[in-house]
Amino acid sequence: MDLAAVPVTRIKGVGPKQAEKLARIKISNIQDVLFHLPLRYQDRTREIPIGDLAVGLEAVFRGKVLETQVLLHRRRSLLCTVGDDSGVITLRFFHFNNQLRERLREGTVISCFGEVRRGRQTLEVVHPEYQVVTAGQNSLLAQTLTPIYPVTDGLHQLAMRKITDHALSYLDSTRLAELIPVDDSTITLAMALRTAHRPPPQMDTESLLSGNHPAVKRLALEELVAHRVSMQRVREVARRLSAPRIDEPGALCEALIKSLPFTLTGAQQRVIGDVAADMQSAEPMLRLIQGDVGSGKTMVAAAAAAMVVGAGYQVAIMAPTEILAEQHLASFSNCFEPLGIKIGWLKGKLGARQRRDAIESIALGQTEIVVGTHALFQPDVEFARLGLTIVDEQHRFGVHQRLSLREKGVAGNSVPHQLTMTATPIPRTLAMTAYADLDCSVIDELPPGRQEIQTVAVPASRRLEVVERVAAAIAEGRQVYWVCTLVEESEVLQARAAEDTLVELSGYMSGVNVAMVHGRMSGTEKDEIMRQFKANKVQLLVATTVIEVGVDVPNASLIIIENAERLGLSQLHQLRGRVGRGSVASSCVLVYETGLSQRARERIAIMRESNDGFAIAEKDLELRGAGELLGTRQTGAMHFRIADLMRDKHLLDQARVIADKVPSENITALVDRWMGGDAPVYGNV
Ligand code: ADP
Ligand code: MG
Repeated sequence: MDLAAVPVTRIKGVGPKQAEKLARIKISNIQDVLFHLPLRYQDRTREIPIGDLAVGLEAVFRGKVLETQVLLHRRRSLLCTVGDDSGVITLRFFHFNNQLRERLREGTVISCFGEVRRGRQTLEVVHPEYQVVTAGQNSLLAQTLTPIYPVTDGLHQLAMRKITDHALSYLDSTRLAELIPVDDSTITLAMALRTAHRPPPQMDTESLLSGNHPAVKRLALEELVAHRVSMQRVREVARRLSAPRIDEPGALCEALIKSLPFTLTGAQQRVIGDVAADMQSAEPMLRLIQGDVGSGKTMVAAAAAAMVVGAGYQVAIMAPTEILAEQHLASFSNCFEPLGIKIGWLKGKLGARQRRDAIESIALGQTEIVVGTHALFQPDVEFARLGLTIVDEQHRFGVHQRLSLREKGVAGNSVPHQLTMTATPIPRTLAMTAYADLDCSVIDELPPGRQEIQTVAVPASRRLEVVERVAAAIAEGRQVYWVCTLVEESEVLQARAAEDTLVELSGYMSGVNVAMVHGRMSGTEKDEIMRQFKANKVQLLVATTVIEVGVDVPNASLIIIENAERLGLSQLHQLRGRVGRGSVASSCVLVYETGLSQRARERIAIMRESNDGFAIAEKDLELRGAGELLGTRQTGAMHFRIADLMRDKHLLDQARVIADKVPSENITALVDRWMGGDAPVYGNV
């Protein structure tokens, strides 16, 4: 029996309604259920002493109610302090009634489960599950580790668990097809799936989450192979297509390079050479340029554009945000308008008339280079003869968006060349997997004369000195970023932290224009503030980590990063790259809370020592232990069910070898099993 051919409705209790919900998470048959793996596990099998609870932990704990009170301040809430011999913790309820209050009387013993957060005075759990413990009765303890599945609205964990129970029972009588060649010593697929869905109680979650367990290894390996095979398929399709042949860089490119006020770095020249060589062949170029912030990727893009325009084709350049697109518009206009090339502009919110004109001019081929946001790739935008698409900060777009770009300009068997650029360097081993469908070039040299960014670390207790330093920089005519970070994923809390900081800093700085950007603002609002900052109408910008990518404000010479200990190395490096973009000496101040973990200390030390994005990325990979990767299953825009490119890096070589040995008749089944409709395709071909 082929489990991919057995519909989910065969499962008891799954009717048309349930099937529809399952379809939303791409589950339609038994095999889909089996490969719908838990995101993570909750360990409800043991009680943790309250004193051992830590931020981020989800745990069962038991204690006696010490105090219960209703708080009216800010937001009405019920606070209940619970303690055992080892410590106290606060339970916080925003929704409550008298009954609950009554039940949580002082002296009552309760068993709770929930995620521990940092509270005002003690650690806190917001809306825990709880149960009053009476003599003889047990707590919330469970017998096995609890799998938590990715679900959708109206589909509950409990229902998912029943459905997976049923699906697993098929494995008793049916052998799942082994689609990849693995040696006999490896655990069987069925056994691996059973373990992943129903880890036995004695197993510690750590071995599952850290990827050390053979079951996880087996599944992750197969998933990595499936991804690789799917990418290779894309590549092969691309090989069979053709693209405009650009025989030589040409006069326009030469003129462009001659007009620059600087000479290109060796790395820029080399990468421009890679691009020229790609486009001289009749196959479409699929190239990724990785280059640290400030390495001069834009000039490489401009040179590529010049080659293509010079040969009579159009070029489209897309950036993930309006502000970045505007920046490109400015650079490209600067470079190309003196050379008589017409640049077009397309963004989401353009007046109807402007948009119509822009689109018409693109369709007629009058506009030679079009810069824009994803608005460029709406269906009504048609190019007369698109020869090249350039995507900046490509990791900000999903794999699908990236691939769907290739649909533009497809004419019969001919497609445009594609160049993507990223400032997020990832180590070579990872790049080979994450971008298996692309050729990579690296700009590994910064333009001469750049000043190293001085990085210092300062404990939060000396925050006032940092504020003085900010004021001094502004007094000298410089601009400053102040980045607030919080571990909480909640954008509400992040925004609140930024607001508090804004108020506080404004208090210290009279006559300085202070503004704020955070993730709760709309794209337009954020862009407007960034524009003001670029124009030096704002001198101090308080921000959450949303300012990470690509914005170029050469006059900003100081960046403060609060709670720096909570950020990963790559993110810190990206943030730091917001300064040091002009000729002014720049610095980065990492403000940390005392009590640094060993890892945090190492990260901060590396930041102080190195300005090299690739070296930092390698270190990041080394340092990231399982603990920090819990629950994270993606790198860039790739989504995996179980594999994790960082965690499973030791499997990548093996996955590559196996991928080449997958029998061709298994490829479709393998890709369907792991990726289903998410498998990448080459444009609409
Ligand atoms: P990124 O790689 O981060 O996109 P940009 O392309 O924005 O970097 O370049 C950063 C700055 O460096 C720009 O102001 C650009 O004009 C300048 N630049 C680029 N190449 C060179 C070079 N070879 N010599 C001097 N300055 C350069
Ligand atoms: Mg850039």
